[in-house]
This record gives sequence, C-alpha cells and structure tokens, in this order.
Amino acid sequence: MTTPKPDLAAVFREQFPDRKFIVVSNREPYEHRWAEEVGEISVQRPTGGLTSALDPLLQALGGTWVAWGSGEADATVVDEQNRVGVPPERESYRLRRVWLTHHDIHRYYLGFSNQFLWPLCHLRPDLTRVRSRYWERYRRVNRRFAEAVLDEVKGSDAAVWFQDYHLALAPEFVRSRRPDLSLAHFWHIPWPPIEIFRISPQAEYLLRGLLANDLVGFHLPSFADNFLHCAEELAGAEIDWERRTATLGGHTAHVRDFPISIDIDAFVEAATVEDAPAQMERIRDRYLPQGGKLGLGIDRLDYSKGLPQKFKALEFLWERYPEFREKFTFIQVAVPSRSDIEAYDELAERVDRQAWHINDLYGTDDWQPVHLLKQSVPQNRLALLYRMADICAVSSLQDGMNLVAKEYVASQTDETGALLLSIFAGASAELPEALPINPYDPEQFAIAVRDALNLPEEERRRRMGAMRGSQRSIFDWMGEVFTEWGAADRGEEAGTVVDPG
Ligand code: UDP
Repeated sequence: MTTPKPDLAAVFREQFPDRKFIVVSNREPYEHRWAEEVGEISVQRPTGGLTSALDPLLQALGGTWVAWGSGEADATVVDEQNRVGVPPERESYRLRRVWLTHHDIHRYYLGFSNQFLWPLCHLRPDLTRVRSRYWERYRRVNRRFAEAVLDEVKGSDAAVWFQDYHLALAPEFVRSRRPDLSLAHFWHIPWPPIEIFRISPQAEYLLRGLLANDLVGFHLPSFADNFLHCAEELAGAEIDWERRTATLGGHTAHVRDFPISIDIDAFVEAATVEDAPAQMERIRDRYLPQGGKLGLGIDRLDYSKGLPQKFKALEFLWERYPEFREKFTFIQVAVPSRSDIEAYDELAERVDRQAWHINDLYGTDDWQPVHLLKQSVPQNRLALLYRMADICAVSSLQDGMNLVAKEYVASQTDETGALLLSIFAGASAELPEALPINPYDPEQFAIAVRDALNLPEEERRRRMGAMRGSQRSIFDWMGEVFTEWGAADRGEEAGTVVDPG
C-alpha cells in the first residue's frame, strides 16, 4: 500500500504562479566524476533525503539548483556560465555550480560551518573554534552563492529556497539587490537558546542574514522560539509573538516549524523486495549465526549522536543482565564523517575502543556482542536491517530531527520491533509510542534496552502500529512549507492551522 503524494508542482504553482523556482544548497544533486574508463564521465545521482525529494519537483517545474560543484569532473561538463542541464538523460532543469577552492572548503565548510555553527547549534560551545579567517571566508562564499542566484534570476520573478546552516548570509545579499524576490530558508539543525547563541561574535550578522527571508523554517517550535528570541535581543528585531514574525529594517520574516520527514514508500518498498527474506537470512548468517535478537544503531560518526553513551549502556546491559549474553547482538553502523576535524577523529577512536572493550569482556569464541561497521550502507540495505532489527536505538544528545527513527518505523513492515528514542531527538515529539531514553543516564538506558527486548509482542505491535499509522512523508512536509511560504509572501496571516476540535 502506498501513501497518497501531494502534487507538489501544482502546490508550488498555486502559491507562486509567476515565479521561477530556485533551490540553493551547499551539496549538489548531481556530481560528475571521472569513470574508470579513461576520458569517460559518470554521474552520481541523488540518493535519499531532501535532495532526492526535491529533484523530481525541479524536473517537473524546470527551475534552477545552485550548489557547490564538488565533483572532480564537474567543471568539464558545464557551459561558460557554469551551468549544466540535469538529469543527463532528460535535461529538465538547470544545475548552476559554484566553485570552492581548497581554502574555501577548509574555512567556510569545515571551519565556520562545521567547527563553529554545528557545535554551537548542537549545544557544544566547548567544541567551537572561533577564527576570523573562517568567518571572513564564510561571508565570501555566501556572497558567491548569492551572486550565482542573482545571475540565475536576471529578468525574472523567482522564489528562492535556501537550505541549511552553510548559507545563513546569502539571503541578505540577495535581498539587498533584488527586494522583489520571495525568499525562504530551512534550517535543518537545532537553533540554540540565546545563552548559547550569543557566544557567536557574529550573532547579529547571522540573524540579519536569515531575517532577510520571507519565511524561516525550523523542525521544532522550540527552535523557532529560540530564533525569535535571539532576533529580538541580539539583532534588535521587532517580534510579534502571536503572528510569529520578526521585523527588521522594514522587512518581515515569518518564522515557522515544519518537522521534516522521509519518503515512507521508498523504505516500505525496499524492506519488502521479493528477495528480502533471503537477504535478511544472509545478514543473520553473517552477524547472528547463533541466532538471538538483533539490536541496531544507524548514525553518522558525530558527537551529537551519543555513540559513547549507547556503548556504555550496552556494556551495562551485558554486565548486569547476563541472560542477554549470546542472546542479543548489536549492529552499529557508524558512517565516517568530517574526519578532517579533530573532535570527529577522537570520537572515532573512542567508539572503536569501546566496541573492542565490550567484545573483549563479553564475547566468546562463537559470539561477538557488537559489530561496529564504520561504513556507509545504501538505503535499500538499511531498510532490510531496519525491518529485521528487534530494537533500534537512537541515542542523540541533541538532534534537529533524526530521520533514522522515522526510517526504522517506516521499514518495520512486520510491526514487531521496538524503537528506543532519545528525548533529545526532534523526532521524539512526533513518536510518543517510542520508548524514551535519556542517553546521559546509561544505567537507565540499559534498563530500557532490557525492557524493550522483553516487551510482549502485542505491546510492540500496538506501539509500532500507532507510529506507522501517524507518519507523514517528506512530500507532505514540502507541501506545508510551500503553502506557508506562499502566505508569507502575500503578507497574509500565517496559515498555522489550529485544530478547533
Ligand atoms: N544513512 C545512509 N547510510 C548509512 C547511514 C545513514 O544512507 O550508512 C542515511 C540515513 O538513511 C538517514 C541519514 O543518513 O537518512 C541520517 O539522517 P539523520 O537525520 O538521522 O542524521 P544526520 O546524519 O542528518 O545528522
């Protein structure tokens, strides 16, 4: 059974009948690479997430996507304006590439974006690195993105959608030259409380950059509140708390929450492919040859995901509840990430040591308690792991949303698994039937794992069924963003629908 999808092209057209659609993000939807065959070029396509949800919409609407040209053969295929038509077999929209030098990547991307904004927004000011050269380059690269947008919208009306924390300043650059455009921004990570955000020496500039949008979106109401509070105190914006708007320099930004989601049907399909049983059997043979229950964790190797806390809880579990030794095995996929940054490197070493320690303490000749897979697994394989896992543990210390939790629920087509979900993951607001955990308390976390493994089947089915029944897709999310954006653009009272019932 598939869920009905809104016709997003129609929703966009209804809101913006005469505007061209422009998406701006750091990452690009198509990357050109040199193939093994000398002189041949291959194309890497979008896989999963927002990129693969936006790609068909742009194909239908025929707009422009502005992004960093990160592929090694990207420059070879563009025209003089750094444009290339995509998808290659049926060019339906334009990809406009922005070039980044080695220095740009180091300072704008790894520096300001990932060693300042990321830890700051994930409540880790201790991990922030403040350097004027990072900030200077962040500004410069944001300006470059803005110039590319301005070039693409010459002579036309447009609705421009910026994505994420890499591009906080670009909207203001664009607005200053084209006040007539409609601008929106989605901030995919948390927005911290003012006590944390004011650590930023550039707080006012970052806020001003974002306030140039007509709509600023966050996952949760609390992130939107934090943002409004910062806008008032640190940028001097006038806040209308009822309408949830911030006005600065005569321009009003509407601030809303839209919890992002996933392509539910894609996960259901991947979890139920014809040879799913055989594939799952092969995974069992490999990791659980002696049988027993399976626990699963899927995370990027990032300090916000609480991996050391998860491993500590597992250690407590096997120590205090020996009945689970040889009867419960844990697979942790930990995708290497931002490994040029010291904090990530240290984390990778730490979880390696923890996995080794647990396996050394409790492993036997025939059984390995933890399988730490430091690799990226394609989503169609993840869907099978999700389907077969008796429990999935999400232990984020701070997470804007956490899509893994939603993917696990979508892929649980047999509805027999249990989701252990950190109360600090945004997704927990929408998944009240998950078993809540506080990752800072590893003893209680271990008890929660034990209880989840002992949960009667009927209760597991009830919880999983309820979560599956209430899931909304990324397509619904996008439809809601467009509708609110259209209202904001027309200066209408925002349409945050209050259910009278
Ligand atoms: N993911 C993947 N392969 C992996 C591990 C993760 O494709 O081996 C995907 C996963 O399916 C999910 C995303 O990466 O869509 C992780 O999103 P999430 O919101 O959980 O965390 P983020 O990494 O964005 O902080």
